[in-house]
Amino acid sequence: MENLLALTLANETPERSEGEGPSFYWRWLGRGVLELTPFTPGDASLLLSSGLHGNETAPVEIVDLLLRALYRADITLRCRLLVVFGNPPALAQNKRYLASDINRMFGGRWAQFPQSDETARAQWLEEVVKTFFAAAGAHRWHLDLHTAIRASYHVRFGVLPQRGQPWDEAFLAWLGDAGLEALVFHQSPGGTFTHFTCEHCGALACTLELGKALPFGHNDLGRFAPTHAALRALLGGTQPEHAREPVVRYRVVQQITRRSEAFRLHMAAHTLNFTPFRQGVLLAEDGEERYEVQKATEYVLFPNPSVAFGLRAGLMLEKLS
Ligand code: ZN
Repeated sequence: MENLLALTLANETPERSEGEGPSFYWRWLGRGVLELTPFTPGDASLLLSSGLHGNETAPVEIVDLLLRALYRADITLRCRLLVVFGNPPALAQNKRYLASDINRMFGGRWAQFPQSDETARAQWLEEVVKTFFAAAGAHRWHLDLHTAIRASYHVRFGVLPQRGQPWDEAFLAWLGDAGLEALVFHQSPGGTFTHFTCEHCGALACTLELGKALPFGHNDLGRFAPTHAALRALLGGTQPEHAREPVVRYRVVQQITRRSEAFRLHMAAHTLNFTPFRQGVLLAEDGEERYEVQKATEYVLFPNPSVAFGLRAGLMLEKLS
C-alpha cells in the first residue's frame, strides 16, 4: 500500500484491503484513505490530510514520500496514523475542485451545496475521521497540508480553527519547527476540515499553507524540507530540529464575504497574503455593505473576488504581540 497515491489517482481498488508493514498494521478504508496502526502503539493519533484542493500537489507528494519511507522501514511508526488524500478526482485532474470546494463543506455544510461527488466525499470523510478519533487517546493531532494560490509575505504559515480552550504550546512550537513563519487564529467557526476535527473530534488541528505548488512531478520538494523533516520526526516519535526564528501570530478580525454580483474587492489582483492596510481604508463593497479597516493596521489573507456567493472573499488579520 506504499503506492496509495498511484492507486488513488487511477481510482483502483487494491487487491488486499489490509496487511502488515514493517512497523504497523494497515487498512485501506476507501479511495485515498489509509489507516496505519503501529505494532507498539503510543498515546498519539495523527490525521495527516492533503489534496483537499486537487491542484495543491506538493504536500501530496510529501505524504507519498513519507508512506514509502514507512513501508521500507526507513521510519518506524510510533503513532496511530490516518492518511487522507482529500479530493481524488480533482487531484487526478490537477484542479482545485470539480463542482464545489470540499474545504468549505465540513460540519454538515455539505448539505447546503448542490449535491456532487464532493458533497458526498465531505460527508464520508466526516464519518471516517470521527471513527478514527473515537478510538484515539488524549493526544490527537490533525495536520491538513495545503499550498497557497498567491505569493505571500510569509512563505509558509498555519491557519488554526476557532477553539474554546487555549492552544497547547507544544503543538504551536511544533508548527514553528515544521517551518511555519506565522500562525493565524480563527475566532469563529468555519467549514474547513480542521474546524471539523477540532470541534467534533477534540483534535489540535492546523491547516498548513506551504508555499506555491506546481503540477505533479514539477515541484521542488527541497523547498518543503523543514516540513518534510518535522513530519518524519513526528511519525517516528522523535523531536524535530528546533526553529531559530520566532513565529509571528495573527488573529482574524473580520471576514469579507461576497454576497452578490455587485461585490468589488479593492485590491490589486496579485496582492500578497499578509499585505498591511491602514485604518479607514475601503477594502471591499457589496451594494450597500462596505468593508473598511477597523484596527490601526490589518493584514489581508486569501483575497479572492471570484468566490461563489456567500463564501469568503478574504480575511483581515490583526498582529498579536
Ligand atoms: Zn488549499
